[in-house]
Amino acid sequence: MKRMNLVFALLLAGVLTMSSITSLNAGTLEDVKQKGVLTAGVKDAVVPFGFVDEKTKKLVGFDVDICRYIADKMGVELELKPVTSATRIPTLTQGMIDLAAATMTHKLSRDEVIDFTITYFMDGQKLLVKKESGIKSYHDLAGKRVGTAKGSTSEKNVKQVQPECTVISFEGYPQAFLALKQGKVSAVTTDSGILVGLKASDDNPDAWEIVGDFFANEPYGIGVRENDSNFLDFVNRALIEMWNDGTYKKLYDKWFGPQTKYYMPLTWKMETFPE
Ligand code: GLU
Repeated sequence: MKRMNLVFALLLAGVLTMSSITSLNAGTLEDVKQKGVLTAGVKDAVVPFGFVDEKTKKLVGFDVDICRYIADKMGVELELKPVTSATRIPTLTQGMIDLAAATMTHKLSRDEVIDFTITYFMDGQKLLVKKESGIKSYHDLAGKRVGTAKGSTSEKNVKQVQPECTVISFEGYPQAFLALKQGKVSAVTTDSGILVGLKASDDNPDAWEIVGDFFANEPYGIGVRENDSNFLDFVNRALIEMWNDGTYKKLYDKWFGPQTKYYMPLTWKMETFPE
């Protein structure tokens, strides 16, 4: 009898494992449609990509609007979960979010852990410094301390181009900017759009300047789990549709157009696949 119980327990365990594998195989697209909610990981302190609106206390930004478009296309609600540069990939692989639209560069090394959509935003890395600091490019950072965010491409890139600087990695970019204001670092480095957001949302934007040429390419992709191709296809299609139907340009102008504090001319084209 005891032996029978053991056999039964083993069989049951097998069935349970199989069913959880099957539900994983069904994919995120089916799961999201069933739940009626798309859970998106976005930044909550990166102006203007994902940040808390002072008046409404709601999470807003370019990445948030991209996620809203995708959720609308799926016909589901959008739920937002804040992630940082360091937490976005583990949060995704552990299943806590369905996708990450979080100023994330599509890097081949990250592609070993998650998958990425086509590029939905194109940027590059620069420096934010105090005006008249004398720092004009990463060449001037030798022997200096530079602030950036933990888990970013920025911390690696700057060390690569200027091995003689000391990189101090903070939880996020606002903390790195605070360190710059307090004189604890000589520059903040990351993607130029994030630097534009930091500078523009300061009480005294004219005290700061963004300097140098791009020293790393930073094409953003939306992160999804590995081997989830129906979902990945859906999100890629949504991005291509929003580019073709003009929604992308509208959203881009809302956040980065000439009327905004974060003006950045749109100088690249999305790689849209023909039908
Ligand atoms: N785009 C870069 C990255 O993915 C820097 C911005 C960020 O930390 O999110 O790491």
